[in-house]
Amino acid sequence: MFYKLGGKDMAKYAYRDKDRKDIIYSDEAIEVDRNTAFFCPDHKCNAKLYICAVDGSKSAYFRATKPNFKHIKNCLFGNSSTEFDSNNYDESQFVYEDAINNLLCNTKPSSQKRIPSAHGTGEPGAHPPRTLRQIYSLCKSLSVRDTYAGKEIGSMILDDRSKYRYPKGCFGNRIIEATVDGRLYNDEKKEVYLVSPINSKKYTFILSFSDEDNYKKIRSEIYNNRDKIIVIAGKWESSGEYNKFTSKVYGTKQVAIIK
Ligand SMILES: [Zn+2]
Repeated sequence: MFYKLGGKDMAKYAYRDKDRKDIIYSDEAIEVDRNTAFFCPDHKCNAKLYICAVDGSKSAYFRATKPNFKHIKNCLFGNSSTEFDSNNYDESQFVYEDAINNLLCNTKPSSQKRIPSAHGTGEPGAHPPRTLRQIYSLCKSLSVRDTYAGKEIGSMILDDRSKYRYPKGCFGNRIIEATVDGRLYNDEKKEVYLVSPINSKKYTFILSFSDEDNYKKIRSEIYNNRDKIIVIAGKWESSGEYNKFTSKVYGTKQVAIIK
């Protein structure tokens, strides 16, 4: 894979105020006083974040450097799964609908060309974010009101930050940040059930499988990680029941477990 900055707990944005209205991005915070504390993007998290530069990189990040004000357990902004170094990707080539459509087909994940880490920032092989994990990290590294390649983050992902955009449900090519709540699967129907967003649990999502092997593999993977955050890329439509949506799942490219 690409050169990685290493370490966890590196947020690309934070807030100046407790109400999380006044956003500040790490790349505009280079001049900021290193002793100024900022608020974690997660409202439930009381971490105090400080701007930090990363050795060998132009990037700066917000980190919870004070032992008494670390990220709460399960705060995604203290988790390396949400790390996204935009320097490693070619934004200009990113077309959201194509990226999702590529996840929704049952081919094996393309064997990605490995870029030797010596190439550092990865310029020679820079490609747009492709895998679900990459796109998810991208979505979590920016505010839902930000855009990437002209597309608003909140229109890519349903999570607790973007739910205001989905008052009547979740339709079309969308990534959902989901969790297990109650019944997880139905072997007869070859269906797996999740809820999203993870805090409000407003909507139920039905993953529908036609292939038995895929069903068993993904059902087990989700079952074994039922206390974790499950991210699914789907083409969602109404299931016919109120607040329930369904998508076909063709393979593991559509599923990411956030540990
Ligand atoms: Zn936090």
